[in-house]
Amino acid sequence: MTHKRLGILGGGQLGRMSALAAANHGISCHIFTPEKNSPASQVSDKTTIAPYDDKTALQAFANDVDVITYEFENIPVETVAFLKTLKPVFPDEKLLEVSQDRVTEKTFLNDIGIDTTRWKQYESFHSAQDAFSEWNTDNLILKTTRFGYDGKGQSKLKIGDEINETISQLNGEVIIEEIVDFDYEISVICARDTHKNMVTYGPMFNEHKDHILHKTCIPADIPSEIQQQSISMVKKIAEEIDLIGVLTLELFVTKDKRILANEIAPRTHNSGHWTIDACHHSQFDQHVRAVCGLPVIEPVRHSDVEMLNLIGNDIELIKDYVTNPNAVIHDYGTLDVREGRKMGHINILKKKS
Ligand code: AMP
Repeated sequence: MTHKRLGILGGGQLGRMSALAAANHGISCHIFTPEKNSPASQVSDKTTIAPYDDKTALQAFANDVDVITYEFENIPVETVAFLKTLKPVFPDEKLLEVSQDRVTEKTFLNDIGIDTTRWKQYESFHSAQDAFSEWNTDNLILKTTRFGYDGKGQSKLKIGDEINETISQLNGEVIIEEIVDFDYEISVICARDTHKNMVTYGPMFNEHKDHILHKTCIPADIPSEIQQQSISMVKKIAEEIDLIGVLTLELFVTKDKRILANEIAPRTHNSGHWTIDACHHSQFDQHVRAVCGLPVIEPVRHSDVEMLNLIGNDIELIKDYVTNPNAVIHDYGTLDVREGRKMGHINILKKKS
């Protein structure tokens, strides 16, 4: 059965691009977000502005839609669990649970045979010195277990640094990770439908600036073993979770050609925005298909592409590309420009090599 009215929890740019993709299938969207004038609400049929724990508003939202999804990982698991009693919600909250907490996420990855950088819960070390000695390193990274993204909630620690100050600044439970001297960073995206069909995008080659994605290139010079291995990893996660929807795996490729998982995003991803203009079917199209009961479809990439993220004042760069026939501009319509905020992106297309 194809669902014709989709509820999306979250009003950000990922919700916006999913709603635009849904419209192509004749599916209308209702956005649920605490935020006024959100990027997703600007292109959707209806918006409920309410906190994620407002059960009366959630009930009315569920009554108005056929199926529900979410567009970012910090939606409370309880919200999804409550909505699930009223309407189908995809992906299942199990994926949210895994990806919201770095301890749960890394334990899950390691348990299914996917390597991560070495990590431990801060409390499990007697002192930070133990971590430096055990891993024979001079540099570590501390990350909050929850609510960290784009480098927020993390701090590097050098041998001799005062750890207590760092811990109190991070505020909350923390893990210690080894710093990976990686060669490059990649990501892979998987979409899986109700019939267990799976399709993937990537691996994509990602360049970060100040911990935020700056550029994604496709194709990239990634050895075929790394390509195959990263695709197998994301498929393994999708199968283990029994995914219905889209998930993304962010990975480090080390100088000695090991692949280490960094993070699972339980959703479409910034490194997949190029798919909107360089493929017949985008990651957002696949997400809508999967959660609304349509089949996912093998992606066909018709162009080479470089995706340039517009962060904060980078939005001004649009004027440099507005007359470029190979540049496709995506402005998320965010009303206030803030430092570090994702404001838009530009897909610069080239003839397929
Ligand atoms: P995260 O919030 O964990 O996705 O980290 C954001 C970015 O910080 C990553 O894309 C990397 O560029 C960098 N980073 C995170 N963890 C590590 C690590 N253990 N070693 C080296 N770089 C890291």
